[in-house]
Amino acid sequence: MMNVNNFLKTDNYWQGKWHGAEKCFAVVNPANGQLLAEVADATPEQARLAVGAAAEAFRSWAALPAGERATILLRWHQLMLQHQDDLGLLLTLEQGKPLAEAKGEIAYGASYVQWFAEEAKRVYGDTIPGPAADKRIVVLKQPVGVVAAITPWNFPNAMIARKAAAALAAGCTFVVKPAQQTPLSALAMAELAERAGIPAGVFNVIATTDAKAIGKVLTQDPRIAKFSFTGSTQIGKQLIKQCADTVKRMSMELGGNAPFIVFDDADLDAAIEGLMASKFRNAGQTCVCTNRVFVQQDVMAAFTEKLQQAMKSLQVGVGTEEGVTIGPLISADACDKVDELVQQATEQGARLHCGGKRSEAEQLFYQPTLLSGVTADMSVVQEEIFGPVVALQSFTDEDEVIGQANATEYGLAAYFYSRDIGRIWRVTEGLAFGMVGVNEGIISNAAAPFGGVKQSGYGREGSSYGLDDYLDVKYVCLGGL
Ligand code: ADP
Repeated sequence: MMNVNNFLKTDNYWQGKWHGAEKCFAVVNPANGQLLAEVADATPEQARLAVGAAAEAFRSWAALPAGERATILLRWHQLMLQHQDDLGLLLTLEQGKPLAEAKGEIAYGASYVQWFAEEAKRVYGDTIPGPAADKRIVVLKQPVGVVAAITPWNFPNAMIARKAAAALAAGCTFVVKPAQQTPLSALAMAELAERAGIPAGVFNVIATTDAKAIGKVLTQDPRIAKFSFTGSTQIGKQLIKQCADTVKRMSMELGGNAPFIVFDDADLDAAIEGLMASKFRNAGQTCVCTNRVFVQQDVMAAFTEKLQQAMKSLQVGVGTEEGVTIGPLISADACDKVDELVQQATEQGARLHCGGKRSEAEQLFYQPTLLSGVTADMSVVQEEIFGPVVALQSFTDEDEVIGQANATEYGLAAYFYSRDIGRIWRVTEGLAFGMVGVNEGIISNAAAPFGGVKQSGYGREGSSYGLDDYLDVKYVCLGGL
């Protein structure tokens, strides 16, 4: 029997304690507008206390042998899996994604905790031949210090887990401000952190409605060494500026505008499967979701037909209901924006094959939508759609499509389908993106470096590259030997 009440925390968590606030804010279920909880609305002063707790805990956490940190993190991982059903339900209630996806996210988030716990034991340094017989060059890797993070609502568990797991494994302490829409999954992680025996001050959560003021604390407090953000490019740019005064190290996972290219030598059925997965996960609300689909002219008709057929299997509805594959969008504004992009495209000449409107008036469900004949000047191509809308463009040759795919300020994920080994290498190398899925639509996992180039940001999450982002390199010159 699922019971979210075990994990429904409404106070903020720092220094190993739960703290209320003078004001509270409402967390609602996007599927029906119902109130889920009233959560303590942290003030900037409270954020500073949380940072203080993290600063105080840093020395002793960093000094623990990596194996001991790993043991504690593995307990956290185990607890997440043990309570996967409850945590998944809580996530669906506050975020909207179908329950199966929400449970998948808990397992995915937990997999980072496990992976980094294991990797914590392998933070190897270096010795380098010195410039003279009596000198040696030694390189140590040490945790950067207190890490502050701000995370979005689309993966309320995993976006925190990816950052916290790497930070804690490296020996850093951590303060996160989750998105206002989805604080409950973050607070549930704090409850499990406590049960796992993560020491007071090592993992702290401050939920708030005042992102701006608390964002200032987390980007400007000199006790914080590193700032890690996942969210929009627009806010990311602002936060980069705010971090400049104290020269914080930064990881920025910002927006994307992923191309998905189908060449005429592709296995079309595999391409459809990959597109369905990369487009419709979380109702299209992920930064690596396919945004622009380029199909080579001679397979366009067959591809469109197959895609329209596949999209009939999508079931829109409340995420807790059996069989639902597309939940609500996060807000009325999000729904309006998706609808505006679709309406603009059709007015400018795109062809609407299916969908094109809300499923039910006054609610946040948007019908899976297929557009063809879109062009590069349309907003649906230039902007992140963040909804269940596929926009098809046709192309004729390889160089042309690489140019079109790269014609964006973003550079997060790209996907393409081809069976030609020469083409696979040429296109992979030609795409200006941090991640490329070749004959694959779902690419993210704990062992791989997730991250972008260009205005999609910098830094990597997952893999040993992801751990390096939380480690400082210290060069030691040993002389007089
Ligand atoms: P999204 O479109 O996913 O909501 P945002 O970049 O607006 O993207 O939000 C991502 C995170 O950034 C959320 O936790 C949000 O509260 C936070 N945020 C938004 N505006 C600011 C700001 N001015 N300063 C600090 N954090 C902010």
